[in-house]
Amino acid sequence: MRCLRELEESQWWPADRIQQLQSDRLQRLIHHAYARVPYYRRLMDDSGVPPGRIRTAADLSLLPVLTKADVREYSSDLVADAFPRRELVEGRTGGSTGEPLVFYSSRESRSSHGIARTLRALEWAGIYPGDSRVVVARRRYSDSFWSAQFRRTVRLLSRTTLEDCAGFSDSSLPFVVRRIARLHPRLLSGYPSALCIIAEYIRDSGIPSPEVKAIVVGGEALFDEQRSLLREVFGCEPLSKYSSYENFDIAMECNAHAGLHVAAEDFVVEVVDDDGRPVEPGQQGRVVVTNLHEFGMPLIRYDTDDESSFVEGVCACGRSLPRLSPILGKSGHVIYTPSGKRLSPRSFVARDFVPLGVRRFQLVQETLDHVTVRVVPSDSLSADRAQDLAAAVKAHYSSTLGTEVEIQVEVVDHIEPTPAGKHLFVISKVKCPASRDSSQTQGQAQIP
Ligand SMILES: [Zn+2]
Repeated sequence: MRCLRELEESQWWPADRIQQLQSDRLQRLIHHAYARVPYYRRLMDDSGVPPGRIRTAADLSLLPVLTKADVREYSSDLVADAFPRRELVEGRTGGSTGEPLVFYSSRESRSSHGIARTLRALEWAGIYPGDSRVVVARRRYSDSFWSAQFRRTVRLLSRTTLEDCAGFSDSSLPFVVRRIARLHPRLLSGYPSALCIIAEYIRDSGIPSPEVKAIVVGGEALFDEQRSLLREVFGCEPLSKYSSYENFDIAMECNAHAGLHVAAEDFVVEVVDDDGRPVEPGQQGRVVVTNLHEFGMPLIRYDTDDESSFVEGVCACGRSLPRLSPILGKSGHVIYTPSGKRLSPRSFVARDFVPLGVRRFQLVQETLDHVTVRVVPSDSLSADRAQDLAAAVKAHYSSTLGTEVEIQVEVVDHIEPTPAGKHLFVISKVKCPASRDSSQTQGQAQIP
């Protein structure tokens, strides 16, 4: 709550005061990284950049960008020396690019600063602790018994109900809508693709929309078609936020709906070209993030694989926190099944594949009853082990897709980026089944 109070105040500070706070925190992080993190000590020594040379966000480009491949390769060298293990939380990314990743973060960074940012972001939507919420996301099946209990308790205390988007189908959606209406939540949040499955169902079936005060979407890009569908069905303008498993909420739309304000007190966010050099405001580039509170496994100039640009000028809301334009990347298509299931791309996260030894995957729905899953193994495999891996992946997907869809698994060396969007990891060539004429193009409307 102390972190939240600070953020509530600093959001109204003038830009130079925020920059000063950011620079102070950046210097603290860089000195810590040099003193305690083997990877960065080596990097700064090798590149001849002493820690004292990096004073402001602009100086950060003296260091190279940290890719997910780097994190995978040097993960033990990225953890700070003598950092108490019990203060570190292991996390796995949802693999929104089809590439799972294991990382560590400190409890302080996640539980204090991360949650404070989330609470401030929700305040912008008019949502406060104690307000009832429905979150449309994917339930974590891989949780241990105790972490599942913990999540359930947190949901109970925060008056949050989880709707598992993995179970959406023509037969379950009427119940989903009824449950949401009965709960009368102040906040409806979740992946845009999953919320749009609900919204589309409400629109097409003509049943009344549940009343909600605010809609906050995240985890994927929010496309214009999705924005107008949500506005039309629920009667309020959705607010988009930009977050990641590694860093929690990074940026959030305000009520001016003119870009996403970066929480610049806690992050340095850069938009860079392919060589890692910052681009001009208004120019598109890759989003690179430095979390100024992560001392356990500092990720400095961490390449998110997302694309955006900085918005010029001042925001009508009066905050001088820098703004990102809508984030591109982290997206995919809705998958339909013959019996009427509708699966958000988020139903196919790569996180579950880490223990199986999958480095990257892509799912392509060729026809209504056939999908091809391509997997790149973490190491080179013998023919036998490749077969075992294929069988394990197939078994995993059968539980999500059911037996009505034939699943073909191909173990491959690499996956070509698609011309439509290089980050798509769930691709459907199938239109929405003919029973819903008005939504025939839904599968394609997701592509920008
Ligand atoms: Zn604003």
